[in-house]
Amino acid sequence: MDPVWDEFRRRRRAFWLAILLGLLWSVPGSLTCSFLVRYGLDYDLAFLLVVVLPAMGNITVAHLSWMFCPCPHCGQSFHCSWFYGNPYARHCVHCGLPKWAPGTGEKKGSRKWDSPEWH
Ligand SMILES: [Zn+2]
Repeated sequence: MDPVWDEFRRRRRAFWLAILLGLLWSVPGSLTCSFLVRYGLDYDLAFLLVVVLPAMGNITVAHLSWMFCPCPHCGQSFHCSWFYGNPYARHCVHCGLPKWAPGTGEKKGSRKWDSPEWH
C-alpha cells in the first residue's frame, strides 16, 4: 500500500479519536468545572474554557489534517479545493485519482483510473 494512504488512514483515525476523546473529556472536564466554581468562577465560562474549547480545538485540528491530506498523485489536497470539500470523496477532487489507488510515476492518459471501470 502506498505510504501516503497509510498517512491518510492515520489522520482519519486521529479525527475519530479526537471526537471520542472530546466526548470522554466531558466527564472529568465537568468535574473540574465544579471544582473551579467553588473558587468563584462562573460555571458557563469554566465549562467553555475547560471542556468545549480544548475538545473543539482538538477536533478541528484533526479534521483539518484529514481534509488537507495530500493526494499521492497530484500532491494537492485529496478532499478539498478552495471552494469544495468532501471528507468522504471517493476520488481526488483535483486529478480524479480513486481512493486507495497507487498514484506515483504515471502520466496523464496512461492512468488506469481513467478507464471506465474505475468510475
Ligand atoms: Zn489528486
